[in-house]
Amino acid sequence: MKVLLAEDSRSNQMLIQAYIEEAGHDVVTANDGQEAIDAFINDRPDLVLLDVTMPVKDGIVTAREIRQLTDQDNDWIPIVFLSAMADAKDIEKGIDAGGDDYLVKPVDAIVLNAKLRAMKRIAEMRHQLHKANLELKLMAARDGLTGLANRRHFDEMLIKELKRSARLKAPLSLILCDIDFFKLFNDNYGHQGSDDCLKAVAKKMQETVKRPGDVLARYGGEEFAVILPETDLAGATHVANQLKAAIEQLAMPHAHSSVADYVTLSLGVACVDKIDTNLIEIIRSLIEQADNGLYQAKTQGRNQVVCF
Ligand code: GH3
Ligand code: MG
Ligand code: MG
Ligand code: MG
Repeated sequence: MKVLLAEDSRSNQMLIQAYIEEAGHDVVTANDGQEAIDAFINDRPDLVLLDVTMPVKDGIVTAREIRQLTDQDNDWIPIVFLSAMADAKDIEKGIDAGGDDYLVKPVDAIVLNAKLRAMKRIAEMRHQLHKANLELKLMAARDGLTGLANRRHFDEMLIKELKRSARLKAPLSLILCDIDFFKLFNDNYGHQGSDDCLKAVAKKMQETVKRPGDVLARYGGEEFAVILPETDLAGATHVANQLKAAIEQLAMPHAHSSVADYVTLSLGVACVDKIDTNLIEIIRSLIEQADNGLYQAKTQGRNQVVCF
């Protein structure tokens, strides 16, 4: 472990440093609260030992500032106070300020190292939990078959991107896509064939939708949606045509389609350029317009793009 030790008494500092190093850890020292904060930012220790009474910034103020620094990135690092017996009130304040434990001075080497081990154990558990939470969050946003954003994530992102576009006074476009004659594909190639087709189409679409802000989602069974922030209708129609061409290039055999002998897409495009406060109404009309375009593409013969 890398331990940050903030202690203004030189003799105490040297003694505690020796104890920690003897236990096999690395030590970074600081002589006051501000030095501790600077060292924390530069050295990112695994654990912080803070004397309560120090010049410039005392241990309590220092603990509060360190916690604020770590709250932002969700990274938890244990903070242990070093305090004389008489500082009971300070210990309470220190724990309230974000400290996790305390050691009474003069520090005993065995107790010190036992606490370091205990804190390390907790830090590791918190770290694993944090990692698992991130993974869960990611899984909850993904469609299991294709790996694309799922419908729930699409709904969240549409609201977020509409708000962002409103702030930027920029347009936002939406493309809705539906695989042509997929029921017949399903009936003839079976579930495994259909799953493979959905995966291949999703992968190809993902390669085609390139901008970092674009969101490609599996909207329903064989339906996909693309959110295109800061994109006008002409731009979105261009992307839709690229998607249509990309799926044609895939040339996935579909012997029972009436429009081609391979898998094709129909696409509807809509755009909103004045985003006022009524987001619910904007979302409703944007989806309705893209859906109308899609419906027209279907009735006009499929394998085509219709913009509203
Ligand atoms: P079109 O869109 O060209 O009008 O014809 P379609 O046959 O694709 O019709 P529609 O979109 O109404 O129906 C989709 C069908 O696709 C229903 C179902 O048989 C099949 N399908 C939809 N989602 C899935 C899915 O996730 N897995 C599988 N295996 N089949 C699906
Ligand atoms: Mg002191
Ligand atoms: Mg459909
Ligand atoms: Mg379909």
